[in-house]
Amino acid sequence: MSPRFLAAGVLAAVSLTAGCRSTVPVEIERIEASPSTSQTGDPSAPPATDIFEARVEAQAFLDSYASQLQPLYYASALAQWDANTRIVEGDDTNARRVQEADEALAAFTGSVENIERARHFLEQRDALTPLQVMQLEAILYAAAAAPQTVADLVSERIAAETAQSERLYGFTYVLDGEEVTTNDLDRILRESTDLDERRAAWEVSKEVGPTLTPGLERLRDLRNGVVRALGYDDYFAYQVSAYDMTSDEMVALMQQLNEELRPLYRELHTWARYELAERYGQPVPDLIPAHWLPNRWGQDWIAMVTVEGADIDPALEARGPEWLVEQAERFYVSLGFDELPDSFWERSSLYPLPEDADYKKNNHASAWHLDLDRDVRSLMSVEPNRDWYETTHHELGHIYYYMSYTNPDVPLVLREGANRAYHEAVGSLMGLAALQPRFMQAVGLTPEGAAPDPIQGLLQEALNYVVFIPWSAGVMTQFEHDLYAENLPPEQWNARWWELKREYQGIAPPDPARAAVGAPYNDAATKTHVNDDPAQYYDYALSNVILFQLHDHIAREILHEDPRDTNYFGRTEVGDFLESILSVGGTVDGNELLRRTTGEPMTARPMLEYFQPLLDWLREQNEGRTHTI
Ligand SMILES: [Zn+2]
Repeated sequence: MSPRFLAAGVLAAVSLTAGCRSTVPVEIERIEASPSTSQTGDPSAPPATDIFEARVEAQAFLDSYASQLQPLYYASALAQWDANTRIVEGDDTNARRVQEADEALAAFTGSVENIERARHFLEQRDALTPLQVMQLEAILYAAAAAPQTVADLVSERIAAETAQSERLYGFTYVLDGEEVTTNDLDRILRESTDLDERRAAWEVSKEVGPTLTPGLERLRDLRNGVVRALGYDDYFAYQVSAYDMTSDEMVALMQQLNEELRPLYRELHTWARYELAERYGQPVPDLIPAHWLPNRWGQDWIAMVTVEGADIDPALEARGPEWLVEQAERFYVSLGFDELPDSFWERSSLYPLPEDADYKKNNHASAWHLDLDRDVRSLMSVEPNRDWYETTHHELGHIYYYMSYTNPDVPLVLREGANRAYHEAVGSLMGLAALQPRFMQAVGLTPEGAAPDPIQGLLQEALNYVVFIPWSAGVMTQFEHDLYAENLPPEQWNARWWELKREYQGIAPPDPARAAVGAPYNDAATKTHVNDDPAQYYDYALSNVILFQLHDHIAREILHEDPRDTNYFGRTEVGDFLESILSVGGTVDGNELLRRTTGEPMTARPMLEYFQPLLDWLREQNEGRTHTI
């Protein structure tokens, strides 16, 4: 799950950025070191003394804002943490605490005074330092998530968000009369070859959908209403504006990404149709039935392939779940990062609850930066398998990002990624690195001398990273765009959802009636992000692009290894490179950072190059087969 940033919506679950360290000394030093830009000779520039005063005044405001924000943020994050790690049916104590803490936080970040003062200082932006301007913009962006000019709407939205999360995570899934977890359903979809069993599991996983429809409709209206108070067209436009883009520009960028990867996806889709039809003893379908795929949303198909000599599940099983988290930490430490603080181990919720527990927890993995300082935690349900092995590396990527930009040079409100996609890119990069053949052998997960087929390895990776693009850049982005920007009515949600699934992913529901207008389903809402991390799923698509750019650079320029077979373990040069990206947090422009560190703007080139040998192989395999997308 994406971590939360101040700029991305202060009210949400995960990390609010506030540090206990004062930024005052650093700022004053900077102000004094560059007292004036007017000495460059621009006759229209204000005199140096005015600039100095403007900076000092703005800094006083920024410091005061940060010191008031931090405790409010922490209280909200703590309440959210409890609400996500201890869900007791019929007990609304946590919900009330979240509501109170979030409202207090919203009353501050969205206060009329803060909005007016930030605007006032931005009117003299030429007199301020770039770092001050960035902080003021972040403050205004956060204000738009909770402007107190529409206080009633804001508090209603907070209540609606809490209630929606409880409905989603408190839902009881029942399969064949037995209560099951989503982990159980996922296991069936990964492993079973019995189509009836698969279909039953898939359908059960969607039963939560309709219970979320009224809440999601209300949330859509509230989210749109709240951001309109600060001049945004709708909630989608608001979220996209964090990239300095319009909705149309973001949708166009996602479209371009889909098109660039389409030739490769098309071959994967064809290969999968034939492969799965054979596995289940069925005729080859034009569109892949959703319950044939090893994931509830068809967003990754990794489990379709077992790479001989690279199956790490037995080794993980033998080591147990704790080893996975400890190993992920060892990897980061080997690159030169600090050990995780004791508080991480004491406060995190890392493993599934015991079977007799009388409460539930949110089963979606996430990483939290609760006080924007040293209190970092992760919420997971780690089991010893490949998925969780990758996820532990991913979530610790967020944790190390938090720890790295928690430093005196990064002001509280800029303790976030260089843009939202960076946070995911870093986590996913480490997940990819930890699964490369040479790496797995070095850490003893695959047998000495095992020589897994490189094409099968690439295929498995493509079933993760490439298959994810039509889902994230296509289905999710387009659906949430229509939901918020086009005000799509609920009776059309499921029909639109399956239209997008067909168009981008080439996936069909088990029964076509499910996709009819007015059908009593809400399959989109079974995805957690549609409810509680809304209108920012393109972050993940962009993060995939960035991760291949970073990995390509690390492999070629630092390790001098084939990008398809690297071993980062113990290479502190890689750690230094990563640290140069992580430690600046949100004080730099994301595109600029990419150009500076890798020499290229954002581009899918490294991703396409990485999979080129696979594309050639797939074309051979698919010769004579019919392509249907
Ligand atoms: Zn993540």
